[in-house]
Amino acid sequence: MDATTGSTALETFVQTMTDRMTTLARTLAAWVQTEPRTLQQQEAQLLNQLHELGSLLLSGLLELASPCPVATLACPCGATASFRRLRPATVTTLLGRLTYRRATYGCASCKKRHAPLDLPLQVAAGSFSLGLQELLALLGATQDSFAEAAALLARLCLVQVCPNSVRAATEDLGATLVQHTQDAASSAQNQDILPPAQPAVPRQLYISMDGVLVHCRTSGWREIKTGCVYTTRLQRARRAPYARVLRMEQPSYSASLAEAAPFGWQLCVEAAVRGVAQADELIVIGDGAHWIWTLAEQHFPGATQIVDWYHASQYVWNAATSIHTEASAARTLWAKQQLDALWEGRLDEVLCSLAPHAGDAGAVDAAVSYYTTQRARMDYPSYRARNLQIGSGTIESTCKQLISARLKQAGMLWSEEGANAVSAVRAWLKSGRWAAALALRAVPQRRYQQSGLVLSEEPVAKPAARKPPTAATARELPVAVRERVQAELAAEAVYHPWRRAFSIRQQCRQMAARPDAVERAATA
Ligand SMILES: [Zn+2]
Repeated sequence: MDATTGSTALETFVQTMTDRMTTLARTLAAWVQTEPRTLQQQEAQLLNQLHELGSLLLSGLLELASPCPVATLACPCGATASFRRLRPATVTTLLGRLTYRRATYGCASCKKRHAPLDLPLQVAAGSFSLGLQELLALLGATQDSFAEAAALLARLCLVQVCPNSVRAATEDLGATLVQHTQDAASSAQNQDILPPAQPAVPRQLYISMDGVLVHCRTSGWREIKTGCVYTTRLQRARRAPYARVLRMEQPSYSASLAEAAPFGWQLCVEAAVRGVAQADELIVIGDGAHWIWTLAEQHFPGATQIVDWYHASQYVWNAATSIHTEASAARTLWAKQQLDALWEGRLDEVLCSLAPHAGDAGAVDAAVSYYTTQRARMDYPSYRARNLQIGSGTIESTCKQLISARLKQAGMLWSEEGANAVSAVRAWLKSGRWAAALALRAVPQRRYQQSGLVLSEEPVAKPAARKPPTAATARELPVAVRERVQAELAAEAVYHPWRRAFSIRQQCRQMAARPDAVERAATA
């Protein structure tokens, strides 16, 4: 924009906004003086007015930022595009829907239209601003449903969007994150390239894995695999000040609907970022799921493998219920004896106690099989002596907070892409990487008919005008039927509900005028 035009536009803008503000102040002053208003009424009124004013201010600023149109500019096709007109663009922002005008150019050679201002401003006509999209994704991933997210947005920001827009914004961000994670995982798998570790490398690093089932529309119940990389800190117990408990710190999460092998590479990348190669000690905690220990052997060899204490003790309780069918003191005593033995690492003793009851093809056999398979991962006295966490409560709560709380609400059915995307958004958010997630987003672009063009507006072909019914279609109906239909339609038009008079007297008059009035009176 040249200096003179620029300063004129600026002055006009300042004057317009000053006038608006003066009018607003006067209107509000009159409003507040007509009758007593509570603080709540005043703040609601002011918020609405400021929202409208903010929208005007923002559209004015967008136009001010627009450079003065030039006669011609270079078109990506190599030809020259010439100035057409100042074309309005509508965009929905945190301050509501606003329209601003920007210069558009047309290319006579490739017939495309360009709006060069859209790229530096990072807006796409007809879409949402990046600020609004961020809020939509945040609410879409954290509220119970997309509809609740839209309602909360309207309540907090006075911006109305439909639940599907919230879904689209959340899933778009999720798809970007899923793609980024997959790219990093495939670089690690195929080229042996791992991302650099973050600066603060912990001495001791925990990796915990688990799965949670989510109901998908086409494939039924599918397992979302979750992984959590974290450190621990000894903390004073709340109820026993002299006792110390291990608390999780700095968790970062991975979640994916992928199979175990690709998920393993994703978790491998996450562990690399957290400094798995530099940490002195690595601990993998999980339940008895086979895939967990396969991944642990493949990606984290040398790690201390621990089977979660609570899962291990659950097998004792199941076996106790199977042996002592009724809930009795003997059952509790037996279970406690086995748990004590398990806690103190006397696994042979537990297996001996189970042996007389083996062969039930039920809980006892399951316990024997579990303890035999997981034996090397159940050296609990040694883990306790080394101050290691022995419960997978961390990953259990991860599954609940990360996945179940949002994706397993009553009656929820997900598309595979949707479940994967929302899980990814929640994983990044809960790992404290929201800013990094937003930085991965592409600059918004208007979706054109032909891809590969960044700044062009495709001239949209007009839809073909609806053809009047041809003589052939008209002839398809026999003449008598056609005449009767036309007569019925003409009669209908008189007393159609749309045309029904509002007053009772007029309605009665209309009913009396209907051709079938006599018949109806007779049958009544
Ligand atoms: Zn061109």
